[in-house]
Amino acid sequence: MLDVSGLGIRFGGNHAVRDVTASIAAGQITAIIGPNGAGKSTFFNLISGFYQPTSGSITFRGEDITRLKTHQVVGRGIARTFQTTTIYKDLSVLENAMIGHRIRTRAGLLDALLRTARERQDDAGSRAGARQALERVGLASQADRPAGALTQEGQKRVGIAMALSSDPKLLLLDEPAAGMNPEETVNLMGLIRDLVAGGLTVALVEHKMSLVMGLANQIVVLHHGQKIAQGTPQQVGHDPAVVEAYLGSHAHGGQMGHNTTDPQEAGHA
Ligand code: ADP
Ligand code: MG
Repeated sequence: MLDVSGLGIRFGGNHAVRDVTASIAAGQITAIIGPNGAGKSTFFNLISGFYQPTSGSITFRGEDITRLKTHQVVGRGIARTFQTTTIYKDLSVLENAMIGHRIRTRAGLLDALLRTARERQDDAGSRAGARQALERVGLASQADRPAGALTQEGQKRVGIAMALSSDPKLLLLDEPAAGMNPEETVNLMGLIRDLVAGGLTVALVEHKMSLVMGLANQIVVLHHGQKIAQGTPQQVGHDPAVVEAYLGSHAHGGQMGHNTTDPQEAGHA
């Protein structure tokens, strides 16, 4: 579904992502893992058009999308959530999902300000898209409540609904389980499984190894911006380069595949 080839971006002298060649298969769950600062979020920013790569190419469903802008990437069927979700707590759950639709499908502020006939159509479209997205994340019955009244887990679901409101084919989740307790994490895993069963392809960045090992069909490991491994959870868990990357950056880090080990928390243990 998605192929990146030789993908890289430099910030000054810092190669945040360097020469990454990897692919994401349709209908699967791909986990991107790696120590803090490995370039995982930057990788998502490149795919979703927030950053322009300094080298390499991105192909989505046979089309070169390397130079497309964010709203064009969304139009092709890729949506993402952010590491820190911004939801509007005073607005209703439905309004949040509608905003998600707008900021994802519009060219920009000017476009939003030019009130045309299309505007009304867009409103209807975003309302329908938003309602559908809320249904998919199990929040249909909460649509009219202020988003801030939901639990932490509910608010995370709103963030996912904001991304789903553009009806993507590929959903990128950046640390969806961050701050979640074990029960919430299990619920989130159920939601992601349901979305994939419904036809969605998912790529996610996550530190919680229980989620990664429980969900991922394939894992891509980044370290200092470079891909050091790609394979099934089994393959990657036994890869010496991966084990070393984690041990090197986490003083008390455990071996991958150890279900209860969270490398981020282990590092702070
Ligand atoms: P991860 O998500 O794996 O923790 P990031 O992708 O956020 O890592 O960051 C990778 C590297 O890229 C870091 O060194 C970070 O400082 C750098 N970086 C990311 N975005 C920018 C930016 N906009 N400007 C400068 N450096 C950046
Ligand atoms: Mg990150």
